[in-house]
Amino acid sequence: MTLIIKNSLSSEKEVFKPINEGEVGLYTCGPTVYNHLHIGNWRAYVFTDLLKRYLKYSGYDVLHVMNITDVEDKIILAVIEQHRSLKELTEFYTEEFFKDRDALNIIPANFYTKATDYINEMVSLIKKLLEKGYAYRTSDGSVYFDINKDKEYGKLSHFKLSDLKEDAKGRLKKDEYEKENAQDFALWKAWVEEDGSVFWETDLGKGRPGWHIECSAMSMNKLGESFDIHTGGVDNIFPHHENEIAQSECATGKMFAKYFMHNEHLLVDGKKMSKSLGNFYTLEDLINKGIDPIAFRLWLYTSNYSTRTNFTFEAVNGAQTALERLRKAYLDLGNDIGTVNTGYKTRLIEYMDDNLNTARALSLVWEILKNKELSPAEKKATLLDFDKIFGFGLDSL
Ligand SMILES: [Zn+2]
Repeated sequence: MTLIIKNSLSSEKEVFKPINEGEVGLYTCGPTVYNHLHIGNWRAYVFTDLLKRYLKYSGYDVLHVMNITDVEDKIILAVIEQHRSLKELTEFYTEEFFKDRDALNIIPANFYTKATDYINEMVSLIKKLLEKGYAYRTSDGSVYFDINKDKEYGKLSHFKLSDLKEDAKGRLKKDEYEKENAQDFALWKAWVEEDGSVFWETDLGKGRPGWHIECSAMSMNKLGESFDIHTGGVDNIFPHHENEIAQSECATGKMFAKYFMHNEHLLVDGKKMSKSLGNFYTLEDLINKGIDPIAFRLWLYTSNYSTRTNFTFEAVNGAQTALERLRKAYLDLGNDIGTVNTGYKTRLIEYMDDNLNTARALSLVWEILKNKELSPAEKKATLLDFDKIFGFGLDSL
């Protein structure tokens, strides 16, 4: 098999070749746990689950790490606004995240690393960057990454620092900003009154880590300084993943992740989701409207992860009907499990090897069910085999 995937580092489709034969180290930027995730966030995690399932199906031993961001700007704001402790707030939303994950039949990662458990690792990484001259301290005690020292800065987002406006010499303490505003970013944020009780006393002083350093420290701790695939949504490309690469590669002098894979945006009724437009949906909103989370999963497969998709209730209701049809047809096949049909299996692999072409792969399911030449037992075996990738949970019906 030759798996072809789209690598954001080259913007090209490339043949997937792991660093160590037969093994895949996979890192996914996890949730920032201060509210319920929206369905666009879930597109990213269903995509990673599909990728992981297909890698496993193809015989790879996959080590999957996902972080839980439990200290970050937006969380601190929520802690203050809701008068809750950091621990109480983040633990609550972490549990909610796991519940939704299970409802979507997403295979749990091997490790869920909480940012607050890795403060020491972050501090050592920052100290390394200070020693090597890629970072500097400011008078308030914060530490910033000097993007002009990194000759490769911009390689993931595909821009050159010299092409940006000339004030790329400023500094940003905020975790999120636009590409046009590329400036030195905070690795360590010295404590300020608004942080309240959220701080750590470390060799770098009293403060907290920036968001970007969290993922560099946790991914390298669990997967090594170089690993195979890093996934996330396209909105993570800049600044988050660009900054992760900069920090990690400047600290180690080695390649960070070999492949970056990003899923595209999910639009709702043709627009970007936002609370003010009233088109912001969580998984619970879907369930309340009679949509099974697995039907949402099935609907996601109708478009490729690397293209934009437009969510409408009409479309997802169609997926709900299709899921019910599939479940009934599967149960009608009886109890006998025959052998997997090799012709269909070959086609499935051909489609999935093509940058996870789920729409074509999914069409095989309906073709199998309609095929009069296949016995029910053969159909059942083939569908169960395919479901290792799709994750519709047919085996637990
Ligand atoms: Zn991350």
